[in-house]
Amino acid sequence: MANHDTEQSEPAIDITHFRERLLAMRAEIEELASARAESQATVELDQSRVGRLSRMDAMQQQAMAKATAGRAETTLARIAAALRRCDEGSYGLCLGCDELINPQRLEIDPATTLCVECAEARDPG
Ligand SMILES: [Zn+2]
Repeated sequence: MANHDTEQSEPAIDITHFRERLLAMRAEIEELASARAESQATVELDQSRVGRLSRMDAMQQQAMAKATAGRAETTLARIAAALRRCDEGSYGLCLGCDELINPQRLEIDPATTLCVECAEARDPG
């Protein structure tokens, strides 16, 4: 009779753990975004009261806020995609080579989609 060896050499990825991390990341970004929206409203109020110089400041601040918001949106999209992969059961698999991504790498960036090798191949340096 065949010896059913249920040996698991692959390190299992704790999806529950990473899903929680992803949800926490998302909550944090959304919180920051609403804080930003509030401070932006304050800037606009001040703007009507003060002169040209601080208007420049306000514009610069607005440009920076826009860039930050853009980055936040990108991160939110990555998080949403990672959560979807959790549901589909493909979380932790590299999109480049279909191998398991090192859990330590996922720990650093739970929304990452590539293993170290594929990430380095796409973005050398
Ligand atoms: Zn890969």
